[in-house]
Amino acid sequence: MTDTTRGIERPKPRPTELTKPFWDAARRHELHLQRCSSCGRHVFYPRFSCPYCGARTLEWVRASGRATVYSYTVARRPTHAAFADRVPYVIAIVSLEEGPRMTTNVVGCSPDDVAIGMPVRAAFEDLDDEISLVVFEPA
Ligand code: ZN
Repeated sequence: MTDTTRGIERPKPRPTELTKPFWDAARRHELHLQRCSSCGRHVFYPRFSCPYCGARTLEWVRASGRATVYSYTVARRPTHAAFADRVPYVIAIVSLEEGPRMTTNVVGCSPDDVAIGMPVRAAFEDLDDEISLVVFEPA
């Protein structure tokens, strides 16, 4: 690898008061989503009010972690200098069993094996002592 990756820190999520429950759950290797107690729909990304009915009654619940690949692309050039040693990697949008879609990475298989409609399950990539990323692997 060239010197371009040296000293370049990987960008990391910064939890906020709103998103902290998601990151706390991910740290425990659990996928949690918001669910609206008024209309019953699941919501992702985290919000203060339900995008379907407007209620401010969103509560955090554990999700199954089951999903299917909705769309994906293979990054063959790094999208950030810190990812230079990770190419090729899969950037995907997955449809969660509960309904919402999530942008993520598909890991644990060759990019050539990823397909639209492929069943995947949540997995977790520990970045440090505080942050674990939610990624997906073949189910
Ligand atoms: Zn609602």
